[in-house]
Amino acid sequence: MSDLVNTVVIVGGGTAGWLTAGLLAAEHLSDEKSGLNVVLVESPDVSPIGVGEGTWPTMRTSLQTMGISETDFFRDCDASFKQGTRFDGWLRGREEYYYHPFALPQRFHEIDLARHWQPLREKVSYADAVTPQPAACERALAPKQITTPEFASALNYGYHLDAGRFSKFLEEHCVQELGVTHILDNVVAVNSADNGDIKSLSLRSGEAVHGDLFVDCTGFAALLLGKHFGIPFCSKQQYLFNDRALAVQVPRSSYSEPIASTTLSTAQGAGWIWDIALPMRRGVGHVYSSAHMSDEQAEVDLRRYLASTANAELAESCTPRQIEFSPGHREKLWHRNCVAVGLSGGFVEPLEASALVMIELSAKMLSEQLPANRSTMDIVAKRFNDRFLYHWRRIIEFLKLHYALSKREDTDYWRDNCNASTIPPELQESLELWRYQSPKYQDLPLADELFPAASYRYVLYGMNFETEGPGEQRRSDIATRATADRLFSENTSLTAQLLKALPTNRELIDKVHEFGFQKV
Ligand code: FAD
Repeated sequence: MSDLVNTVVIVGGGTAGWLTAGLLAAEHLSDEKSGLNVVLVESPDVSPIGVGEGTWPTMRTSLQTMGISETDFFRDCDASFKQGTRFDGWLRGREEYYYHPFALPQRFHEIDLARHWQPLREKVSYADAVTPQPAACERALAPKQITTPEFASALNYGYHLDAGRFSKFLEEHCVQELGVTHILDNVVAVNSADNGDIKSLSLRSGEAVHGDLFVDCTGFAALLLGKHFGIPFCSKQQYLFNDRALAVQVPRSSYSEPIASTTLSTAQGAGWIWDIALPMRRGVGHVYSSAHMSDEQAEVDLRRYLASTANAELAESCTPRQIEFSPGHREKLWHRNCVAVGLSGGFVEPLEASALVMIELSAKMLSEQLPANRSTMDIVAKRFNDRFLYHWRRIIEFLKLHYALSKREDTDYWRDNCNASTIPPELQESLELWRYQSPKYQDLPLADELFPAASYRYVLYGMNFETEGPGEQRRSDIATRATADRLFSENTSLTAQLLKALPTNRELIDKVHEFGFQKV
């Protein structure tokens, strides 16, 4: 029997399933006879989770790789531009806020502007000093103009999108353009080969689907990696308490309302509320800790938020959907000839929208490193596990950073979050180090690090963290001071220019619907 990997079977037709199918099929020429056979089996009875509406800029590359037109994507997925996240009330629970923008600080790889910004910290926020993006977001501006080609930008951006429409959109593209075979049926049994690998899947129709590699995209059910192989789940609730969400879709009272170009994340008594603006509606949800707040109180707080941000009648008419989850991930993501991508591999609260980007990274590595045969699969599996367990550690630390820096003491939730026993030891070490120096590349060694040093700086300085410095002046400070002053001043001019030149998010999206972007 040949041990070549000719057929990849993906189970699950949510965002994880279709993104994986699309990225694999595009790279491996599944629309041609000689290409990889990609089969996706999806239950007609279990709907995708239908949340997950904020992406990273990486999604632009993923769409491009799959050969998708950005104009079609905007039109079909009710998409808008996302330029980062605005965090409200995280420091003291009052009116204060800060941005974690997607744009890197000016000349980030050449000069440490954070050191030069320290003396200016009372006058200007770090993010405002180093990039025009927060100012553009404050005015709900788009990151580009209609004449800017597809996927290009003046300011770095990702998307907000309608998750239900996005899965359907990807499905159509994968099946019609990329040669993915789509089977609508329930997997009712997983059949093993003599060596313990998965040999095939039995479907309710009585058919069996054979494959060489199986991708578990079955969401929280984790049918293959969890249920069949019994790979244990590692809870991370000791660090990240949130385990429930109440989600609603809020219709627009008028299609001329401004469309925010950041996700809004507003801290609450025992969690936070996300607010994602799409052209036709908003997606709003309260993520909270069931150990610190009752479901009833969570709904009251969500409704209070809705009443303050939408017209009262619309706010009242929304029926929240409750989603329960356990924060954490599987002990490993790839076992034998099965790899988990998406919720089946793990999930923690969507504070920095890290789930879709993990799917993209997983699918990208799977596609690049697709084992040619069974003999080499275990080598790739080991590397995949090392890489993604590392990513999980770092995501958890980065999310916890938002809580660990808070000065809120108004509820047990915030007090517990700052208790050292709930902060991962590696993050505690880093925080000690960052009291004397800003986060550096060497702190974050991977080339595809999810959160680069720039992200840590935006959150640390957005949350008023003090990097004291040793007081000693360095040769590099003297050498770069003039450059830093120039960059601060250029940033001010660039901000003024962009604020004049950029259309609003709403204006640009309306134009995209009407005329489309220029093709690249
Ligand atoms: P699902 O969407 O649950 O899909 C599972 C699929 O498996 C379905 O198609 C189902 O039919 C199929 N299936 C199940 N059992 C069987 C069976 N027996 N046979 C055949 N098929 C089967 N991510 C972000 O990046 N940004 C965000 O802003 C964000 N917000 C979120 C908010 C909340 C409250 C939650 C819970 C998640 C959020 N996420 C976010 C995560 C994001 O929603 C998911 O990562 C993403 O939707 C992928 O889901 P999935 O495809 O893994 O699972």
